[in-house]
Amino acid sequence: MAMATAVRDAIEAAVVLQADMGMADEYESVESAQVQVCELSRHFFEKGWCVGTAGAMSVRAVAAAGASPAKQLVVVTPSGVPKEQLVPSDLHLVQLDGTAVHTPPQRAKISDCAALFLECHRTRFCAAVIHTHSQNAVLVSLLHGDSFRISHMEQLKALPGNGGGGGANLQFQDELVVPIIDNTPTEHELLPALQRVLSENPTACAVIVRRHGLFVWGPTTQKCKVYHESLDYLFELSLRMHMLGV
Ligand SMILES: [Zn+2]
Repeated sequence: MAMATAVRDAIEAAVVLQADMGMADEYESVESAQVQVCELSRHFFEKGWCVGTAGAMSVRAVAAAGASPAKQLVVVTPSGVPKEQLVPSDLHLVQLDGTAVHTPPQRAKISDCAALFLECHRTRFCAAVIHTHSQNAVLVSLLHGDSFRISHMEQLKALPGNGGGGGANLQFQDELVVPIIDNTPTEHELLPALQRVLSENPTACAVIVRRHGLFVWGPTTQKCKVYHESLDYLFELSLRMHMLGV
């Protein structure tokens, strides 16, 4: 009952804060964000990118009226729960400053990626962050150094250009650059490397973690999904080109 009350209170408090960097209209209600996290989790499980409890997601919700930026809300997946089994009541709700607003009483602790997600939400004002263990991302991380680069591909048009998600998309002839960082024993230890990537690559919409997977962020949940799918397509294409000696 306490859980339902806490979630209902958060939902009732959630209204659009128009002053929020001009992007508040892109954020979801808490209820909608919970549904989207469950749908994304199932979708990426079915694509084989989040098998065996791997991966994590977060979707930002609208802020409570008058809330400071630090108190705006983010829905985050729990740790160690199969993604295809998630339901809204399994999900954690935290403020942008990391303060827990709602912790599911009968489910696992919050994802170890939470600090990484919040860093993306805070610095990029993105609506969603998706983390998967895409095999294509892992494979390209074994073939490249500190970045994956590709140009002259039609699928590039689905990815953000110099606006980093808020402006025009890349064009056919443009070069996509996805930074690559080395893995760490635990996911939260990736934070310093992620912070460096976000600082040094202001237009990037993703980072590959070597021998681990991929983090993708976007200004809407739908765009974040499109970015991830397009990146995986380009990773697979480059791997096939590599095998063909193209
Ligand atoms: Zn992971």
